[in-house]
Amino acid sequence: MSAPLPHFDGELLLRGDAGFDDAAVDRIFNRRLPDRTPAAVLRVASEGDIVGGVRLARERGWQVAVRSGGHSWAQWSLREDALVLDLGGFKEMSYDPGTQVVTATPSVKGGVELAPYLASRGRFFPGGHCPTVGIGGFLLQGGQGWNARGWGWAAEYVTAVDVVTAEGELVRADAEHHGDLYWAARGAGPGFPGVVTRFHLRTLPHPRHLAHTVQGFALSDFDEVMTWLHTLHGSVVDTVEIVALTKTEPGLGDEPVLLVTAVAMVDDAHEADRALAPFRTNPALERALFVVDNEPTTFDDERQGQLAANPEGHRWAVDNAWISGTPEDVVAATRRVYTTLPNAKSFTIWFSMAPLRELPDMAFSLQSEIYLASYVLWEDENEDARHQEWLAAAMADLQPVTVGQYLGDSDLARRQLRFVSDASWERLRKIIAVRDPDGLFVGYLAGPRGATNANHWQA
Ligand SMILES: Cc1cc2nc3c(=O)[nH]c(=O)nc-3n(C[C@H](O)[C@H](O)[C@H](O)COP(=O)(O)OP(=O)(O)OC[C@H]3O[C@@H](n4cnc5c(N)ncnc54)[C@H](O)[C@@H]3O)c2cc1C
Repeated sequence: MSAPLPHFDGELLLRGDAGFDDAAVDRIFNRRLPDRTPAAVLRVASEGDIVGGVRLARERGWQVAVRSGGHSWAQWSLREDALVLDLGGFKEMSYDPGTQVVTATPSVKGGVELAPYLASRGRFFPGGHCPTVGIGGFLLQGGQGWNARGWGWAAEYVTAVDVVTAEGELVRADAEHHGDLYWAARGAGPGFPGVVTRFHLRTLPHPRHLAHTVQGFALSDFDEVMTWLHTLHGSVVDTVEIVALTKTEPGLGDEPVLLVTAVAMVDDAHEADRALAPFRTNPALERALFVVDNEPTTFDDERQGQLAANPEGHRWAVDNAWISGTPEDVVAATRRVYTTLPNAKSFTIWFSMAPLRELPDMAFSLQSEIYLASYVLWEDENEDARHQEWLAAAMADLQPVTVGQYLGDSDLARRQLRFVSDASWERLRKIIAVRDPDGLFVGYLAGPRGATNANHWQA
């Protein structure tokens, strides 16, 4: 007979309890829900609940899965027969003006919660573009936040993490203590062998002036514009975020268009003008469908745009690749994924990381100058197969120029690619083996052989 259930500040729901079915999936963003049923869901209300939840799982022989913001595309928090620790009701933030470090629990949303909290203190943290992404999964994977090409990966701002280990002990991991967990917490993603209860994050001064340039083109200009952008982007100052994307744009007809966007995050309008000037050299500019040149914008406006592009209540298939190659090779390999989108809501982005910054010693260790991600969204479940097939074919075209992938937009159960360097992978596997020898934490969701950290066509 099992021991009686311990007291929790939050609510524990076992399979079969009223409300369990909802609790298993209600905070999951991607509504193309998989057929996986957890053993129990603990709606965590305190740090003590996380400790208690991990200990209960050990006792019951359950594995532990964690949900912070619920934005994993591949629904990594929904795992068969596991205890889901849903941290959605455990939200705390505090800021220390002396150290300029903010401490936040993992379910805090980077844009709608952390950003205004910091802005009211004159501070900034490069959270995810879509403002509802939880900082938990985002930071563990590396975190490609605002102006990652200049400000770096969000995980580089983590000064410490509080972690509940597989033994159910709460520890603080930083550069001096539990260095293995501190290293792994910055890039291991869902392979992290512990539950993070709090992140301690360095902050930046809030940028004083934001301005953007947006140029719209017909897809017939794709080759010329993208070849030009490929040769330009590494020379643009690092205060500018550069994204090119194809999408159907309201007011510009039913066909997708190519948008070249650049946001300068600087001190004043003059600096923005200088930073955005290189975009006026676009050789196709006179054929642009519209041009917005160095107009002031705000993070609030930019985030509203992200919310509109990423609506709730949809079914999603998402994939990505780190790209490297000559402009000719890259343009040829990426043509299908940009120019044949399968419906009017979907979009494909090209995100500049050039020139590549050197990374600190952390698990996140694989990137290239160009990040490509394709986001396919729809509502009708009868369209699942068509959309997934389109995405698989378009991503297959990219293989000749693909270096690896970013965990944040990946689904390892459908397609395995490298996500960390070989040295990091070896180190990570040793850390996981030492910290979680019994496999208490569910780890990577990647099919029967587990994660391989290899590009599937090379493995
Ligand atoms: C609309 C949208 C926009 C996005 N935009 C960006 C973007 O701009 N930049 C970017 O980098 N990514 C972006 N992503 C990807 C996103 O960062 C990842 O999906 C991330 O995992 C989401 O974190 P979460 O906490 O919301 O997700 P969850 O689904 O709650 O967590 C994902 C997984 O991370 C692990 N995890 C989470 N919290 C913890 C914890 N406390 N302890 C241990 N393990 C934990 C678990 O394995 C968990 O299953 C976006 C995703 C969506 C849906």
